[in-house]
Amino acid sequence: MFIFDSHAHYDDESFDEDRELVIKELKENNIIGVLNCGASLQGARDSVKLAKENSFFYAAVGIHPEFANEVGDLALNELRELSKHEKVRAIGEIGLDYYYDENPSREVQKTAFIKQMELAQELKLPVIIHNRDAHEDTLEILKMFPEVKGVIHCFSGSVEIARECLKLGYYIGFTGVITFKNARKIVDVAKEVPLDRILVETDCPYMAPVPYRGKRNRSEYIKYIIEQLAQVKDLEPENVSEQTILNVNKLLNLK
Ligand SMILES: [Zn+2]
Repeated sequence: MFIFDSHAHYDDESFDEDRELVIKELKENNIIGVLNCGASLQGARDSVKLAKENSFFYAAVGIHPEFANEVGDLALNELRELSKHEKVRAIGEIGLDYYYDENPSREVQKTAFIKQMELAQELKLPVIIHNRDAHEDTLEILKMFPEVKGVIHCFSGSVEIARECLKLGYYIGFTGVITFKNARKIVDVAKEVPLDRILVETDCPYMAPVPYRGKRNRSEYIKYIIEQLAQVKDLEPENVSEQTILNVNKLLNLK
């Protein structure tokens, strides 16, 4: 089974000790593509570096809501410069995260999100959206940019929210959460989303699927997400694998 990991953070410090070895093993284990997503400005730089060094790596450059305070003209200009590299295929991850009280204020997050959506529109790049406990505000901002398309990564909303995102032309990203015992809500979403709008992702080092839940995640484990999706949708894992690869290639305008 071939796998394209549509959302990973191999620049994360948890890979500092063995990053090169892990990436070598990914290649040997049929991982044909990885979109490494920047979370901070430094993460964006590191994502581009990984994409330059590894033929099957691509980069998304953007600033996560947790670091929304970083988003000013200087940072936006650097993202614009970074995006000129041909292996930068998306702006992300960007969005809203209202889960942690210590995150920047909602107003700061919304401004940073809107500025980066404007950048995606200007550069005609898709967006990688992070949305945690901010469904209404996220949808409102996505609707301000009807020309911009992308993926709602690590989707955590209801079936109704998923329908709204699909209507706006977005893909839905599934992580290891779908393999968790208490995953009824996301299983219902998977039943609803057509196969040609599904992406699979690790969000590594986090979100490892069962049987590796709680461990450091890596792209090979997407196999368990694909098997679970296949079961939910009554399909063969091979079909899910093939279609999700077509989907991510289409979104990132590859091949
Ligand atoms: Zn992420």
